[in-house]
Amino acid sequence: MRTFVHHLGNHTWEGVPILKYKEEPGTHFKQITRQVLSDCSPDFKTQLRYFEIAPGGYSTLERHQHVHQVLIGRGSGHCLVGGQVHPLAMHDTVIIPPLTWHQFRATGSDPLGFYCIVNCDRDRPQLPSAEDLKALAPSARDFIRI
Ligand code: MN
Repeated sequence: MRTFVHHLGNHTWEGVPILKYKEEPGTHFKQITRQVLSDCSPDFKTQLRYFEIAPGGYSTLERHQHVHQVLIGRGSGHCLVGGQVHPLAMHDTVIIPPLTWHQFRATGSDPLGFYCIVNCDRDRPQLPSAEDLKALAPSARDFIRI
């Protein structure tokens, strides 16, 4: 188990590659990178990732059984959690409950960087159907990007 990860500056870490956000085709997202700061091990079945969304970018609108906790580490933006849109600033933290639609957007002129903790044993994200989109609150529908 890796026990120390040195921050090199500017939201990069020693020995941590800057990856594409997702590899799966068919998901809609824009301008995001992913860095895995701690990976799964038998003794700690959790991953800590750092995501960064460039201005104008967004994460996939999705839901899943597993829970996320997000901690904002850079810039500002907004997120949708269920029917609610929240403004995001440094050190805010967001908990996304099971089967709750969520999306993060870098709505300002700054990148939006955030840390996200997830369980290693997790289900695959579900994408919204046309009916799911219709069922969203009007404020959520105005906010989302798909
Ligand atoms: Mn998610």
